[in-house]
Amino acid sequence: ETSEILKVQDDLMSGKEIGCIGITEPERGSDAVNLTTTCTKVDDGIVFSGEKVFTTNGPKAKYFACYGVYDTEHPRQTMVQGMLSRDFAGIETKRLKINSVPRVHIAHTYLNDVKVPMEYILGDNGRGYHNLFDGLVPERLGIMGSGVGICWAGLIYAIIYTNLRQQFGKNVINYQGVGYSLGDLLSKCSAATSLAFQAATIYDDKILFADKPSKEAERWVAGVSSQGKYLVSKLTHEVCYEVQQQMG
Ligand SMILES: Cc1cc2nc3c(=O)[nH]c(=O)nc-3n(C[C@H](O)[C@H](O)[C@H](O)COP(=O)(O)OP(=O)(O)OC[C@H]3O[C@@H](n4cnc5c(N)ncnc54)[C@H](O)[C@@H]3O)c2cc1C
Repeated sequence: ETSEILKVQDDLMSGKEIGCIGITEPERGSDAVNLTTTCTKVDDGIVFSGEKVFTTNGPKAKYFACYGVYDTEHPRQTMVQGMLSRDFAGIETKRLKINSVPRVHIAHTYLNDVKVPMEYILGDNGRGYHNLFDGLVPERLGIMGSGVGICWAGLIYAIIYTNLRQQFGKNVINYQGVGYSLGDLLSKCSAATSLAFQAATIYDDKILFADKPSKEAERWVAGVSSQGKYLVSKLTHEVCYEVQQQMG
């Protein structure tokens, strides 16, 4: 870790500056390994050239964690991860209008031969590929955590409301159609919470804070974090829809 990167970390963790991640490109979405953004080594740094899209927070960001490759034929072996600063010449962002998230600032990001000093390179010569995928597991666990939080917030609100709301002389939770639906969601939320805790605990104990990360745990968490992110995201949608129905 260089002093430059420690400063970026401080800026981001303190909320002083906004950061974003540039993986997706106009022609590379799901196929995130075969990047077309190229990296070229120069004397005192690496030049990034290409375009990124759907860069959440991009229009407001000072820092851009971006990925590119030295050789588009061998992206895994040559991927580079760099922390680009808006202070470096050549970064341009245009806000995109995404109808499903109209209030989120999402950018089309242009990397016009941005020269990045070596102190800002987080992973060179293929290390960027490993950093990219190592980062996805905790991100998925974090998304599970957010989803579980949304589920409980919605469900608890609905349980309180339906316990207080009376129609035809009874609290509406006592009508089977309402109470059953909330009980069904309660079971699913409890199960999802247990899965999220289990996956996060194994990640902490056997990978993140382990003296020697367990390969078996890495494989297990990679799978379960993907499945859990999928399951909890769908459950979040279901809970929010159902509790609105039970509240009238
Ligand atoms: C709101 C929002 C915020 C985002 N924020 C960021 C960000 O901050 N940084 C960033 O880098 N990216 C970001 N993204 C981009 C996101 O990661 C991509 O949208 C995602 O990787 C999918 O790429 P794509 O949209 O090009 O879809 P495509 O890859 O073109 O996929 C289109 C459809 O084809 C399907 N498909 C693709 N390949 C296969 C296959 N092999 N088998 C079966 N089906 C397949 C997909 O499931 C999808 O249904 C964001 C996207 C959105 C919508």
